[in-house]
Amino acid sequence: MAQTHILGYPRVGERRELKFALESFWRGETSAQDLQQTAAQLRAEHWQKQQSAELSYITSHDFSLYDHVLDHAVLFGATPKRFAKPPFGQKNAPPEVAYFALARGNIEQPAMEMTKWFDTNYHYIVPELNAETIFSVNAHDFLTQLDEAQTLNAKVKPVLLGPVSFLYLSKAKGIEALDLLDSLAQQYAYLLQELHIRKIEWVQIDEPIFALDLDDQWLKAFQRAYAWFRTQRPKLLLTTYFANVTRYQSVITALPVDGLHIDVVRAPEQLLPWVNALPAYWVLSAGVIDGRNIWRNDLDKTLAILAVPAERLKERLWLAPSCSLLHTPVTLRHEQQLDGELKSWLAFADEKLKELHLLAQAINLGVESVEALLRESRQAIASRKASTRVNDKSLQARIAAIDNINENRASPFATRLAKQKVRLQLPLLPTTTIGSFPQTADIRATRAAFKKGGLPQTHYHAKMLAHIEHAVRQQEALDLDVLVHGEAERNDMVEYFGEQLAGYAFTQYGWVQSYGSRCVKPPVIYGDVYRPTPMTVEYARYAQSLSTKPVKGMLTGPITMLQWSFVRDDQPRHLTALQLALAIRDEVDDLQKAGIAIIQIDEAALREGLPLQKAAWQHYLDWAVRAFKISASVADDNTQIHTHMCYSEFNDILPAIAAMDADVITIETSRSHMELLDGFGKFAYPNEIGPGVYDIHSPRVPSVEDIEALLQRAMDVIPAERLWINPDCGLKTRGWDETKLALHNMVTAAKRLRAQLMANYSTT
Ligand code: GLN
Ligand code: ZN
Repeated sequence: MAQTHILGYPRVGERRELKFALESFWRGETSAQDLQQTAAQLRAEHWQKQQSAELSYITSHDFSLYDHVLDHAVLFGATPKRFAKPPFGQKNAPPEVAYFALARGNIEQPAMEMTKWFDTNYHYIVPELNAETIFSVNAHDFLTQLDEAQTLNAKVKPVLLGPVSFLYLSKAKGIEALDLLDSLAQQYAYLLQELHIRKIEWVQIDEPIFALDLDDQWLKAFQRAYAWFRTQRPKLLLTTYFANVTRYQSVITALPVDGLHIDVVRAPEQLLPWVNALPAYWVLSAGVIDGRNIWRNDLDKTLAILAVPAERLKERLWLAPSCSLLHTPVTLRHEQQLDGELKSWLAFADEKLKELHLLAQAINLGVESVEALLRESRQAIASRKASTRVNDKSLQARIAAIDNINENRASPFATRLAKQKVRLQLPLLPTTTIGSFPQTADIRATRAAFKKGGLPQTHYHAKMLAHIEHAVRQQEALDLDVLVHGEAERNDMVEYFGEQLAGYAFTQYGWVQSYGSRCVKPPVIYGDVYRPTPMTVEYARYAQSLSTKPVKGMLTGPITMLQWSFVRDDQPRHLTALQLALAIRDEVDDLQKAGIAIIQIDEAALREGLPLQKAAWQHYLDWAVRAFKISASVADDNTQIHTHMCYSEFNDILPAIAAMDADVITIETSRSHMELLDGFGKFAYPNEIGPGVYDIHSPRVPSVEDIEALLQRAMDVIPAERLWINPDCGLKTRGWDETKLALHNMVTAAKRLRAQLMANYSTT
C-alpha cells in the first residue's frame, strides 16, 4: 500500500487570516493570546484537511508565525546576542514581541537579514552565527505544538530543517559555519531522542541544499552531522526538492536515514535511478504533484510514471507533492470570478491533497475504484489541451517566424547614442526617476472604487489624468531632465500589464506568502499571450503633451512578467517568454510611433530567474536576454531604451546584462555605497548607467552632500559622460514631501557636479 503525505502546507490561511492576525498584533490592537489562538486554529484546520484527505501522515511544525528558518534559530538557541537585552520599556513584553523583533527589528536593533528561499519568491530570515553562538535546544514550544497535533491525530510527522542546510543558509561572521556542525547536530540528536520518547514514528528532515552545487566540504558535512543520529530516534525521511539529486547518490545513500523524498516534477528523470539505487529498507517519497504551480495533475500520466516504482517498492513507495505547498495558494473554494472551464484546470493546495489521495487509491485499490473521479480529471486535462483559449493560431505563426525578427537594434550603441543625443538634448549627468511616484491615498481609493464598479470610467480616467499632470508639474518644478508619468494607474507592475494581455487570468484569493505577513497574488498565464490593444500609449502621450522635456514610457519586461506569474506548464518557459516579448515589442513600437523618445523596460526579476545550478545558467541567460532584446529591438536608433534592475547581485551576470544592449541601465546601489557598481567598472560596461543615489526603502532624505559623495564614487568607476542620476527604484511607497526634498537634493547635486566638471574641462 503506497503511503501519502505532504512536505508542508501553506500557513497564511484561506483568507489570509494569519496576515491579518499578525498585523493587528503588531499595531497593538490584539493580544499575544489572540494571535496564538488564530495560529492554533489555522494549524488545526490544516491538520483536519490532511485528515479528511485521508493522508497516511499528518505533517506538523511546517507552520510558523513568521518564518521556519528563524524558528530553527530560536529552537536551537541561536538568536543573535545583540537582541539579548530587550529595549527599554519592553522588559515585560510577551515573548512574541522578542520573536518579531528578530524578524522586523526594534527601536535599538535592525532586523536580521532576509533573503530568497532558493528560486522561490518566499524569503527566509538568515540566521546570524559567530564565535559567541552556542546551540542549545529549547524544545518547549516545539513539544507543545506536538501535543496539539497528537491530540488531534494519531500519525503525526514533524518537520525539521536539517542541520547542514541550516548552517549553509546562515551567515557566519568571524568563524566558519561548519565549525559549529557537531555542536548543532548534537542538539538535533537530543530533540530526536525526545521525539522518540513521544512515540513519533517518522520525522521529515529537509535538506534542500542538495538542489545546489555543493563542494566536498559540504558533502562531507552531511556524513559528519548525520553520524550523530545513530541513536534512539524516530525514522528519518530526508527530503530534497527543486532539482535532480542523483549526482549526490553515493553521499545520500550512505546517510543513516530511513527514506528519501525527491522532486519528480522538476526532475522526472531521477525517479527510476532512485528506485534502482534505494537501500533495501528505505522508503522513497515521490514528489509527483507540483508544489510550485497551480495546474491540475494529469493523473493518468502520473500513474503511468508510478507503475514501476509501485510494483517494485509496494508500501515503501510514498506519494507527495514535489515540495512544500507553501508556494501555492490555499484553495479554489472561494474563487467566484474564474470561469468554470479555467477553474477546472487548476489545483491549489487543498485540491492537491485530493489528487494525492486519488493517486494512492488508484495504486492501492485499482483505477476502477476511483473511475468517476479520474474521468472528471481526464475531462479537465483534455479540455485544457484542446482549448482555443490556450492555443492561438495567429500567434503561433508569429512565433514560428520569430527567427525573421532581428533581435539586435539597427545600429551599434555608439551610432544610436549619437542620434539620441541630437534628439534628446540632455545635459551631462542627466537626472531622472525609475517610474512610479507616490501612490497617495486618493490614488489608491480611486483605483479601488473603479475596480469595484463604484466609479464610472470617465471619472476614473479624468482622475488619472489629473494625477499624471500633477506628477509632471512636480517634476518640472524640480527641474528633472527626463520625466515619467508616475504610474498612478498601476496597482502592480505585472498585474497592470497582465490584465490587458490575452492569456492571463487573475484569482481573488490566490495569495502566496512572500515573507512574514506579506503575500503576493501572482497572475496566471494559462494560454498564448498577446496584446490585443495598446496598454500604455494614451497616458504616455498625455504626459508628453504636458512638457517639452522627454517623458519616458514605462513597461515591464518579459522576464519579470514571467517570473512573477504562475506560468503554464504545457510549454517550455522560454516559449512563454518569447510570447511576452512580442507583446512588449508591440507596445514599444506603438510608444515610439506616438512620439515617445525614451522607453524603459523594467527587468527587476531578471536575476531571480537564474537556475539553482550553475550549469544551467547560460541556457537561461541566453533565452532571457533574447526575450528582452526582441522586445527592445523594434526601437529606432533615435529611440532610447532604458532598463532597470533592483536589489540583487549583478556582478556574476554582467556579460548577460551588457548583451541586453539597453542604451541606459538604472540599478540599485545606494545602500551598498556604490559597491555594486564596482563590477560594472571592472567589466567595462559599455553603455550608460544610472546608479541609484537615493535609497527609496528608507524614509531618510539624503542630503546634497550625501548624493555628491555617492556620485564621486560612481565617477571613479564610470566616466561622467556615461552616468545618469536617479533613485534606486520607484517612489510609489514614499510620501510626496520627502520625495520632493530628496529629488530636489538630487538635482542640486547633479547641477553642482556639472558645474565642477565644466570648470575642469575648460581649465584642461
Ligand atoms: N517602474 C517601476 C517603479 O518605478 C519599477 C519597480 C521595480 O523595479 N520593482 O515602480
Ligand atoms: Zn526597482
